[in-house]
Amino acid sequence: MDGSALPPLPDRISGLAELAYNLWWSWNPEARELWRALDLQAYREAGHNPIRILRLVRAEALARAAEDSEFLRRYDRVMERFRAEACPLPPETPRVAYFSAEFGVHVSLPMYAGGLGILAGDTLKEGSDLGLPLVGVGLVYSQGYVRQRIRDDGWQEEVSAPLSTADYPIRPVVDGSGRPVQFAVPPFDPPVHVAVWQARVGRVPLYLLTTDLPENAPWDREISGRLYTGDLEGRLRQELVLGIGGMRALEALGVPVGALHLNEGHPAFAALERWAMAIRRGLGWREALEEVRRTTLFTTHTPLRAGTDVFPYPLIERYLHGYLEQARIPREEFLALGLDPENPGAGFNMTAFAIRVSRETNAVSARHAEVARRIWARVRTDGEPVAIRGITNGVHLPTWVEPLRIQRLFDRYLGPAWRERPDDPAVWEKVGEIPDAELWRVHEERKGAMLAEIASRSRRRWAGGSAGAAWAVASGAFLDPRVLTLGFARRFTGYKRPTLLFHDRDRLARILTNPLRPVQIIFAGKAHPADLEGKRLLQEVYRAALDPKFGGRIALVEEYDQHLAKYLVAGVDVWLNTPLPPLEASGTSGMKASVNGVPVLSVLDGWWPEGFTGTNGWAFGGEEVDGDRTGADAEALYRILEEEIVPLYYDRGPDEVPHGFVRVMKEAIRTVAPRFSARRMMGEYAALYRDALGI
Ligand SMILES: *Cc1c(COP(=O)(O)O)cnc(C)c1O
Repeated sequence: MDGSALPPLPDRISGLAELAYNLWWSWNPEARELWRALDLQAYREAGHNPIRILRLVRAEALARAAEDSEFLRRYDRVMERFRAEACPLPPETPRVAYFSAEFGVHVSLPMYAGGLGILAGDTLKEGSDLGLPLVGVGLVYSQGYVRQRIRDDGWQEEVSAPLSTADYPIRPVVDGSGRPVQFAVPPFDPPVHVAVWQARVGRVPLYLLTTDLPENAPWDREISGRLYTGDLEGRLRQELVLGIGGMRALEALGVPVGALHLNEGHPAFAALERWAMAIRRGLGWREALEEVRRTTLFTTHTPLRAGTDVFPYPLIERYLHGYLEQARIPREEFLALGLDPENPGAGFNMTAFAIRVSRETNAVSARHAEVARRIWARVRTDGEPVAIRGITNGVHLPTWVEPLRIQRLFDRYLGPAWRERPDDPAVWEKVGEIPDAELWRVHEERKGAMLAEIASRSRRRWAGGSAGAAWAVASGAFLDPRVLTLGFARRFTGYKRPTLLFHDRDRLARILTNPLRPVQIIFAGKAHPADLEGKRLLQEVYRAALDPKFGGRIALVEEYDQHLAKYLVAGVDVWLNTPLPPLEASGTSGMKASVNGVPVLSVLDGWWPEGFTGTNGWAFGGEEVDGDRTGADAEALYRILEEEIVPLYYDRGPDEVPHGFVRVMKEAIRTVAPRFSARRMMGEYAALYRDALGI
């Protein structure tokens, strides 16, 4: 179950074990190369998971590596940087405890459903790069998030593949005498026990709690079974373990918590437990609450009131009655903090609670801040309306700029500055110096790599005998590297409008099957298991992919995850985004695409009103309108494709390079990389951390 399960390593390269248990390697190309160099086949078979690589690699290969001077030279260089860049901060440093229900750091630790988790992962990585005193707190889900299987009729099924904790790059946290840290989480009666695992994200420890322990009854073991369980009581139980259990874990580990950062409302009970802790230290409940408020930050991610967890009062009463009494927190005061004035009878609102216990609430884009202020205008603290500020999301560039080709291109033309000061716009001015033909060749190479990845996924399923011929066609058999390729990859759900393009099927068919200038579209994304509308949309896309009318120019790729995302955001030609305004809080996949030179075609919603300059992509339809806007938005979309993007893409010079299109690609990189980097985002958060920590 722990690190001892790794096979013995030759002394000379024994540091590989430590490297395997720190996800730092995943955003450092040289370290990544080291795993590939050790055993490329094992690297692929192990799904890029070093723990599994070290179990798969043969002893002779290890022995050979330990004597191979070229390998050792790399190893020494990587280990030297690893020790410098991933060394933990001194244990007495006051920490910002960053709580999130999901963390998407790397495919080898699948504890995320989508954008919220990827953002949390990027936050920890950038925090490590910047040396910020962060610790992450979350849950380790024994079954991860759902795995998607698209049936031959296009309906999504979820297969649950129980994951083996022993395969994750995490280790149990042990106390001074080597025993696993384990304790009962207070509000539960009979008690629910949790154990704590640790992942390392560079310098930043990530503590993950589990209830999947033999001491617990089956129902309780299930609490950390699956990300976002459907029923309300299950969610409440999960959020109690995350929030209250998470704070208790930090206390048990002796981590000095100076500030709390709540990533979305799910972990907000962490603030409740901090309140109780301050009372235990001797403060009165009022002062204790004031202390929590001085040192808590809350990031809200949803522009939909309905996207918030609201727990019926009887449930809250049942689980928290005894806890509140014991903590000497007045019940009425606590319940008032979770009251939504727009809907007072509905129950305890986690977003309202998080807003009221925080020093500052921020939204994830400027536009989202306006919407959030409107939604939560009546949630007040001490009679003051809440001031919600936007800190627009950003993406961790070392993770999302494709490492094999594009990072090397940046190294060559921008120098080390793009890694050292990624948020400095001056650094990115040099993108103009990259020769058009060189950027275009690199892009074509990435497109080929993406198509090869898609084909190999389909082939694996086909060869496994579980897919029919129709499925194989729908999954991309006819994709063509020479054709202008749009990418649409995100959660399948109503407001993202994945089928907007199908509004006028004849017109779309004309665009896709134009004999001289065809277009193809790659779709990917999961629907939440309970979202039947999302599944219906997915099926509609699948059926379109099989409709001869569209000439095999539509593909639906199964099992969208971080790994596939990396191929898509660097491999398609244009990144498509069609949310219904104002429901996209930020969106980050368009940022990932832009920094790889893949321009965005998007509704002006989320981050795009801030990102769009007029020359770095394409935009339409941002205003909020009453009534059905589908026709108008689809019309705008077709027009931009027909009149702007298609001609620009196919207008080739004598050198076969579409210089006009490449100009947009360069503008996308130049303008998006600095402003929508996680470095810029974390700079803004770091200023808040300093205020909250009083340093
Ligand atoms: C970036 C990312 C997302 C979020 O994309 P949005 O644009 O916010 O919808 C979701 N899933 C994966 C795997 C990602 O990499």
